Amino acid sequence: MINEGVVNVSYIIATVLFILALGGLSNQETARRGNWYGIIGMAIALLATVLSDNVTANYAYLILALLVGGTIGIILARRVQMTQMPELVAILHSLVGAAAVAVGFANFMGHGGGFSGIEQTIHDIETYVGILIGAVTFAGSVIAFGKLSGRIGGKPLTLPARHWLNLALLLGAIWFGREFVQQSAAGGGMEPLIIMTVIALLFGIHMVMAIGGADMPVVVSMLNSYSGWAASATGFMLGNDLLIVTGALVGSSGAILSYIMCRAMNRKFLSVIAGGFGTGGGSSSGGSTEDQGEVVPIDTQETAALLAGAKEVMIIPGYGMAVAQAQHTVYEITKALRAKKVNVRFGIHPVAGRMPGHMNVLLAEAKVPYDIVFEMDEINEDFPDVDVSVVIGANDIVNPSALTDPDSPIAGMPVLECWKGETTIVLKRSMATGYAGVQNPLFFKDNTRMLFGDAKETLDEVLKAL
Ligand code: NDP
Repeated sequence: MINEGVVNVSYIIATVLFILALGGLSNQETARRGNWYGIIGMAIALLATVLSDNVTANYAYLILALLVGGTIGIILARRVQMTQMPELVAILHSLVGAAAVAVGFANFMGHGGGFSGIEQTIHDIETYVGILIGAVTFAGSVIAFGKLSGRIGGKPLTLPARHWLNLALLLGAIWFGREFVQQSAAGGGMEPLIIMTVIALLFGIHMVMAIGGADMPVVVSMLNSYSGWAASATGFMLGNDLLIVTGALVGSSGAILSYIMCRAMNRKFLSVIAGGFGTGGGSSSGGSTEDQGEVVPIDTQETAALLAGAKEVMIIPGYGMAVAQAQHTVYEITKALRAKKVNVRFGIHPVAGRMPGHMNVLLAEAKVPYDIVFEMDEINEDFPDVDVSVVIGANDIVNPSALTDPDSPIAGMPVLECWKGETTIVLKRSMATGYAGVQNPLFFKDNTRMLFGDAKETLDEVLKAL
């Protein structure tokens, strides 16, 4: 319906909008605008693609597919709880991987192409790599979904000789790649393609199964990156420039995010991929609570009194704040304290919650002003001057054993050092461990008070008392 020139111009406009979207998303104040750029860019991209002369298929099928996919998407997005967002993201990544595999096979079976000689070889390599990345992304994301939703335990699966197993799978994939290109030139190739797909699926499963709780944030952003490269490879297969560029944008921004997450957790990217870190409760400081001493409980009235009498308050939100949906009450308390001339700040750990930026999203939703929300690096040295730190449903990100116990599954991860302040109040329901499955010595420190209960309920009472 629209000619190639118009399609190309639309693609360029969409690409520019995607870049603006990424730029916008890098800052909380511009994130909303960034999202709109992305939405408009994607709408233009979809329309240009669907209306282009290249689409010769029956529009009825296309509309049906869009309706089915769109309806499922809308239902999922409306139903999902904020705490389930990371799972939703993981399962959506798996769909990108599955699409790359499906397009790859469809392409190979003769629905695309028309190449010969060296062009055919290049196209075969594109197809092979696309299916390979797609299958790894699909399998890895499904396992990540299982781990994030608690359907699969967070404990890393450490098979004996697992690095050799990975190496064998990699060499197998390369060898069958050679076979595939050779056989494809002679009109065959389906067999090595299927074998490689199975290898890639096994590799994806094994890679994510071997990753322990504490390293999951890196894996989530890494799979995000893989899904981009899978889309990009699909773009090469289909000769679609926009898909190549968009995939590369997602792939590289995901890779940069993985790097940032690794730095935040003080981990090397390669050792995360190698896996086996984060043993889920088996550390020397983990497990039992008895050997760590007594915890001192506090009630909501005392908490309100402590807060009202403080000059400097630091709020440290974690995954439990998302579970309790306590962010709105937190902001009401912040306003009440600020009215009493208490300086309230928020300290955000880079891996707090279950996805990058999780806490920032919640606080923005509750309309907490951005200028009182600080990254860990910006405020970690200020704790000695803090009168009261309020840890709301956070655990691993305030665990001192990350700094003191080299055997801890979170050893080496920088944490918010709230225990250096005068008093720390920890809000949680029980003495249960956090995501990494390790006990937290913070709870047993002399200057720590435990406010047990659902964070929303206890904070509502604190607000009333204030
Ligand atoms: P944690 O999972 O360490 O701790 C959350 C705490 O919240 C729990 O100890 C729980 O204790 C408490 N909690 C749960 N529900 C409630 C509730 N309704 N009211 C009050 N408290 C509640 O979370 P953190 O944010 O401290 O750390 C994040 C962890 O998640 C890190 O280990 C990180 O590596 C991992 N992770 C992060 C990802 C990311 O991208 N940010 C992705 C994947 C994993 P109790 O049950 O006693 O209430």
